[in-house]
Amino acid sequence: MALEVYEEAIAGLKNLLSENGELEGATAAEVKKLMTELSGAAAAKVAFDPVARIQAGFEHFKKENYEKNPALYEELSKSQSPKFLVFACSDSRVCPSHILNFQPGEAFMVRNIASMVPPYDQKKYSGMGAAIEYAVIHLKVEDILVIGHSCCGGIKGLMSIPDDGTMQSDFIEEWVNICKVAKAKVRIECKDLDFGEQCTHLEKEAVNVSLGNLLTYPFVREGVVNKTLSLKGGHYDFVNCAFELWDLDFNLSPSLSL
Ligand SMILES: [Zn+2]
Repeated sequence: MALEVYEEAIAGLKNLLSENGELEGATAAEVKKLMTELSGAAAAKVAFDPVARIQAGFEHFKKENYEKNPALYEELSKSQSPKFLVFACSDSRVCPSHILNFQPGEAFMVRNIASMVPPYDQKKYSGMGAAIEYAVIHLKVEDILVIGHSCCGGIKGLMSIPDDGTMQSDFIEEWVNICKVAKAKVRIECKDLDFGEQCTHLEKEAVNVSLGNLLTYPFVREGVVNKTLSLKGGHYDFVNCAFELWDLDFNLSPSLSL
């Protein structure tokens, strides 16, 4: 509902109250309650205007970034040559451009539920395959980074799928089941841990399954074998603001903690 409509409705109710001094008891109380609710809704409208937010965001980017880096944007207007292909979760808290300070042109990105890479399948996962193919063959990225993160809802969802495989969603559970192998591993290796701790382990194991799945793409495997492409796993913990990074051989490199 547009803000004017709320304001009009509130004004109408005010008139009703003032013109009908005899409105008492339940009716007056109902009218006042309705006015309060409408005022709350109107205030919420004032607090958030999506169009104004988008416009302000773009104006900020243009003024503070685009206009201050003319050489970069002149170059990017002709082509892109990112070094990274990054898989990250769709979660609004984990944007790689923010947490790793990637600038325009640096990272080709795929974001999906729980940052999963499905195995090579031309029919089932063509969207994911197209992004990987374009990044590896045409953009010639040098590194593929898959980032898991703390408190991931997709990972919790995977961990919560009952053993009989019953699914309650149209898409989510089918999607996160891509990493069910990781879930089975965590169930066995972390059986003494509580649900939350198991999820934390699964956040990292799922990344390893995705790294393994990347090798099912012939052009990725070829790049890894020829050493023109390297695969890396990462885990961003936004509770403690820490970032863990590891290579395909799963040897942990020192954590980058802030
Ligand atoms: Zn997530």
